[in-house]
Amino acid sequence: MKQHISFYGLPGLNAALKKHQFSWKSVLFMTLAGAITLFVTLAHPPAYAYDVSISPAGPRQGDTVSIISSENRGSAHTPAVSINGTGYPTFAISNGRYRTFLPTSPLHPSGEYVIRVEGPEGPRNPMVWLSDRAFRTQRITLPASSINLGTDYEFDQVAAFKQILSPDKLWNGPLLRPSQGSVSSEYGVRRYYNGVFADDYYHRGIDYAAATGSPVIAPAAGKVALVGRVADGFELHGNTLGLDHGQGVESIFIHLNSINVQPGEIVQAGQVIGTVGSTGASTGPHLHWGLYVNGVAVDPSPWSNGSFE
Ligand SMILES: [Zn+2]
Repeated sequence: MKQHISFYGLPGLNAALKKHQFSWKSVLFMTLAGAITLFVTLAHPPAYAYDVSISPAGPRQGDTVSIISSENRGSAHTPAVSINGTGYPTFAISNGRYRTFLPTSPLHPSGEYVIRVEGPEGPRNPMVWLSDRAFRTQRITLPASSINLGTDYEFDQVAAFKQILSPDKLWNGPLLRPSQGSVSSEYGVRRYYNGVFADDYYHRGIDYAAATGSPVIAPAAGKVALVGRVADGFELHGNTLGLDHGQGVESIFIHLNSINVQPGEIVQAGQVIGTVGSTGASTGPHLHWGLYVNGVAVDPSPWSNGSFE
C-alpha cells in the first residue's frame, strides 16, 4: 500500500518519504517515534531559554504578582507575556531582565493562572496558584436616593486615568504612607447593601482617618494625571487627584479638601500634594488611597512593606 502523507513539523520525515516508499505500519511507527522525539525535546528545553521567577511564591487575592523573565543570551528583546491567554504589559528592568505585573483582587478567582513567556529564547509556561483570602464584610443601609450618586463625567475621567500606561518607571523603593491618620478601613472589605451582597464591590484602597486639612503626601514620585473637583462634577469621589507612577502603576486620592498640584506636574515621593477632606460621598474626613496596577485596584500594603522592581 502506498500513501502520500505530509508531516509538517517533523524534520526529516518529508525528505525521507520523498526518497522511499513506506508501508502504513512503518509510517505509523515513524510518526510515533517523531512524536516521542518532539515530546522529549519539549520536556528538555534547549539551554537558551528564559528563566522566569514569580513573586510572591504563594500569592493571595489582592497581591500584585511580579513575573520576571531573564534572558540567558541577552538578546535585548522584550518577550510577549500572556496570562490565561490575555497579553500583559512587559517592561525591561535591567539588562536582559523583564517584568510583568499580574494584579489581583478579591474578584479574581482563586486557582491556577497560566503564564506564557514568548520571545526569541523559546516559550516558557510557568503557572502560579492564587489563593483565597478572607476579607471582612460590612452591612450598609442606604436610602434609595443615594444609590445612583456619581456623574458620567467623573466615571469617564477616572476610567481613563486607570488605563494610563506610560513607559517610564517613576516609583523607586517602598511606597510611603500618604497620610499619618490611622487606618479606618483596610483594603478588600466586601459589602452587603440593604441586605444584598454586592458581587462587584470591594474596598478598592485604604482609608485613613485624619482631620480636615491635614497633609496628603505622594507615596512615590509621579506625574499628576487626574485632577477632578466637585465643582466640575466629581459628586461621588469629591475632589480627586491621580498620580501616574509609570508602567501601569497609579495612585488615586479621593474626598480631598484641597489639591495643591497642577495637571502634568511631576511630584516627588513625600511631597505634599493636597489635604484630607470629606468632599463627595463621604461621612467624615478621611483619605481614600487606591493603588491601581494595569487597571486593577490592588492591595497597597505589599507595596509599602516591600519594594517592587
Ligand atoms: Zn475608601
